[in-house]
Amino acid sequence: MAKSKFSENLTKLRCSVCKRINYNTRKNKKTFEGKLELKKYCRWCRASTKHVEAKR
Ligand SMILES: [Zn+2]
Repeated sequence: MAKSKFSENLTKLRCSVCKRINYNTRKNKKTFEGKLELKKYCRWCRASTKHVEAKR
């Protein structure tokens, strides 16, 4: 198996309040384990809300 420097997945961040996807980010498997949760500004809620990783 070849080693890759780019072991990161494209991940979407969804607002936990309105369930809209607001951000696209990259998740590094080595840095993040488990579910990604970030507090970010949601333009739909007009507030900083919890954004969680959206599963496909
Ligand atoms: Zn929202």
